[in-house]
Amino acid sequence: MELEVDIITTPKGFHCNLCNTDVPNKPSLDEHVKGRKHKTLTDVRATRKAQEERSVFVSGFEKDVSQTQLTEYFQRFGDVANVIIDKDKGVYAIVQFSEIEGQLTALSQLVHEINGRRLRVKPREKKGFKLINKKKTDFENLQEVLERLRPVLVQAETVNEQMQCVVERIQLSENKRKARELLVQLIQEVFTEFFPDSQILSFGSSVNTFGIHSCDLDLFLDLDNTKTFQARAKCPTELVAEASSDDGRSEDSILSDIDLSTASPAELLELVAAILKKCVPGVNKVQVVASARLPVVKFHYHQLDLQGDISINNRLAVRNTRFLQLCSGLDARLRPLVYTIRYWARQKQLAGNVGGAGPLLNNYALTLLVIFFLQNSDPPVLPTVDQLKDMACEEEECVIEGWDCTFPSQAIAVPPSKNEQDLCVLLAAFFSFYATFDFAGNVISLREGRALPITSFLSQAREETQEEEEDAMEEEQPRQPHNQTPKLGPLNLLDPFELSHNVAGNLSERSQHNFQRECQEAEKYCRSLQYLRKSTKGKPWGLVRLFTPHSDGPNRKKQDGSADKEMSVSIPFKLALLPEGLRNQLQQAGDGFRPLWFQRVCVAVVQVFQNVLKCSPGSSTESVLSGDPCHADVAPGSCDSMEATSEELNTSNDSGVAGQGSPRSGTAPAGSKRPLSSESSDASSPPQEKKPRLGSGPKPGAPCWTWTQTHAVWAGRRKVRRELIKETVDSRPEGSSTALETQVTDHIVEKEPQVKVPLVFTVQARLVGGTQSTKVLLKIHPPSEGKELLRDFFHFLEIFLPKMVDTLMEKSM
Ligand code: ATP
Ligand code: MG
Repeated sequence: MELEVDIITTPKGFHCNLCNTDVPNKPSLDEHVKGRKHKTLTDVRATRKAQEERSVFVSGFEKDVSQTQLTEYFQRFGDVANVIIDKDKGVYAIVQFSEIEGQLTALSQLVHEINGRRLRVKPREKKGFKLINKKKTDFENLQEVLERLRPVLVQAETVNEQMQCVVERIQLSENKRKARELLVQLIQEVFTEFFPDSQILSFGSSVNTFGIHSCDLDLFLDLDNTKTFQARAKCPTELVAEASSDDGRSEDSILSDIDLSTASPAELLELVAAILKKCVPGVNKVQVVASARLPVVKFHYHQLDLQGDISINNRLAVRNTRFLQLCSGLDARLRPLVYTIRYWARQKQLAGNVGGAGPLLNNYALTLLVIFFLQNSDPPVLPTVDQLKDMACEEEECVIEGWDCTFPSQAIAVPPSKNEQDLCVLLAAFFSFYATFDFAGNVISLREGRALPITSFLSQAREETQEEEEDAMEEEQPRQPHNQTPKLGPLNLLDPFELSHNVAGNLSERSQHNFQRECQEAEKYCRSLQYLRKSTKGKPWGLVRLFTPHSDGPNRKKQDGSADKEMSVSIPFKLALLPEGLRNQLQQAGDGFRPLWFQRVCVAVVQVFQNVLKCSPGSSTESVLSGDPCHADVAPGSCDSMEATSEELNTSNDSGVAGQGSPRSGTAPAGSKRPLSSESSDASSPPQEKKPRLGSGPKPGAPCWTWTQTHAVWAGRRKVRRELIKETVDSRPEGSSTALETQVTDHIVEKEPQVKVPLVFTVQARLVGGTQSTKVLLKIHPPSEGKELLRDFFHFLEIFLPKMVDTLMEKSM
């Protein structure tokens, strides 16, 4: 009968209203109605209809009435299967009884009351079942939500209100959360058939209190209590028929006997995939992703248009999800901050890796960055993980894979924060905190709630490793996973529990740089009235402007200050690239690692200019400038935020720094006043006659060299390199081979004519770090003539110099 209702005849054949599909003829129609899609939709419709018939529509209760209260109240009329509160559209709920009798009894009672308020209870409206055909991607859905959010934010009165609004609008709704729970129950039921006593646990954003409406569903299949795999278990019969029709095979042919105790993770995942595919209705697009850090089975759940993952070895993630839940419970400001920062990061393209790992920050890492900031606010909003551990009681002790994951199970065990700053202030403070954070020089530890200087962190890790190795040797035990140091990179954010894991280990240098730059821009914006004050004319203000995506393009580059103004080359600190010997030396230097590293970079810089690019030291006026590498001095005390003294530098001079090219190997004593600090008297005079004008002028005390270049050694290098590579076996990319790059320069110098006026320029090195990312900034001061030429050279140096310095440093021990 239903078929007649669903199918209509059209000039081109038939149309199925249920599936919104056209079919050309009767045989195809028969096939369609027997097919999986049509059958599933028919089943879903039947289920919905039955649910509708057993449900009542309830309104009139107060906003704070909970799902549990409603369940308890309606339970008196019959067993309540489900209560769904729709908070988006107002205050109403659907109460679904297990049997139709429950609905009838509830409707027969004339007066209903909760907390003294009269309720309206009526039969649930019966809606026609319709397939919404146009599927939107998660991203489209979110963009739509965001578009709708804009006018609401403009109308809000304060930034605090705006932030609360963001949460309300984009959080995972109660409805959707409930629907996910039902799906988890369904999957659990099916898996219990095959894996007795197994448990399906949700983790990640569906349950960590930071979920948005389109977030994925992360599941962990806990097989710890499962001894055997019931290969002969059956899928529910009606599903078997459906599943078999998919490819004509029965589940028995797919699920063969496997010994769980010896099965490899890959085999288990294949098994999980087969069960999902064959036995869970509505699941499609099942795929094993074995290559991920934690291998998973990905799937899609059709009815909810939901992307899901099942992993079998992810107990730590379940625990860190619990930790995030706890943090949310500790302070109500965390959720609005996290949602706002996630939204901001998404708009600025700083976060949101498609499919997990990638060069951007993921949502988990972003959330940890917010928590770390709150641990460091004054007074702290959140306690450190170590402090939380101390607040836990004995029963809450928890060790997973050897990592201590102990924290209280209830927020009530933790004293509330004394910090009273509002959301508006905290958001601005988040940006200023990370705008100047030294990412390269520190490891972020939520465990200790502080930034650990990278070198002390490494020496501590080394000591611990040694101790553990000794213990393991004594006890003849295999090595623990703790012995690994995390993969260090441009942003080192330690997992709060798995301390050998850098949660941002995949982040590229560019992403880290962009993150910090966006924090700097946001910080500036947050100081303006446009952030703080509502526009009376209905113009974008507060979060609206903060969330405006970049119109990306050439203007963006100018914001760096590099396009028009000073010429500055940046050489970031990259510990992971340094040779072991140097790493050890830096570790020994502890907090004073920066001046030592600075010195080594300076040596390498000199080598690049002098040996690789064949610049000659000084100029014909070198007596005026002490820029000759042999006369330059290093005065680290003048560097930004450095605590090192010249003595420290002297003591570290035994590391091979002295010698030709060392900026401090000349006659000038460290820290002595430099003649370079004076300005030239006439900018138009050629370098041969007057000393070059130094723009804003180098800082006194910073090492500085003058170089002369007579050839355009930057022009046509790629071509020359290509030709040379043909003749040699050295085919490494630009900047990765000293010998090859030197040959390229020699070739240019030999074959190409000299430039009209030799370029005489100065390079001033400055160490930054401590309150900013550790790096060396090389400021290039143009000569009075040939500025254009120098700009060409500079653009080449911007890329070439950091690479070449890395190469030389790698080989430096
Ligand atoms: P969303 O899915 O909305 O992007 P999420 O928090 O669920 O956010 P996923 O990438 O799906 O993020 O990861 C699920 C969970 O796995 C996280 O909540 C966290 O518990 C854990 N997790 C994710 N990435 C890492 C990581 N790099 N290190 C440790 N645990 C991680
Ligand atoms: Mg997730």
